[in-house]
Amino acid sequence: MIIKDLKNQEMYEFVNWGIECGSGWKDLLDNMTDEIKKVFPEMKFTQIKEKFGTLRAYCCSAPEEAHGIIEKYEELSHTTCEACGKPGRLCGGGWYKVRCEDCEELGWRDG
Ligand SMILES: [Zn+2]
Repeated sequence: MIIKDLKNQEMYEFVNWGIECGSGWKDLLDNMTDEIKKVFPEMKFTQIKEKFGTLRAYCCSAPEEAHGIIEKYEELSHTTCEACGKPGRLCGGGWYKVRCEDCEELGWRDG
């Protein structure tokens, strides 16, 4: 799945490809970029994706302070359902995805 209609699109260098993770993380990404934009308005992300079930955000030459913000939101992705954004947990076997109970039940798998 690819997220579209994100806020702060100018912060994503690769925006034409969309973002390779579920739309449940849209708010997370919007909040993260809001927070970073306040401190480092020039910063750009080079890649954002789901890896082993959780969010990974890559940027080039980010200041130390920005790494702290990114880590905070990557951490939040461990408990945010990637499908719908409700509180969830990392689940799976062979595949890892963060899902809330409802989405896990539905077998919502495709990232
Ligand atoms: Zn869900």
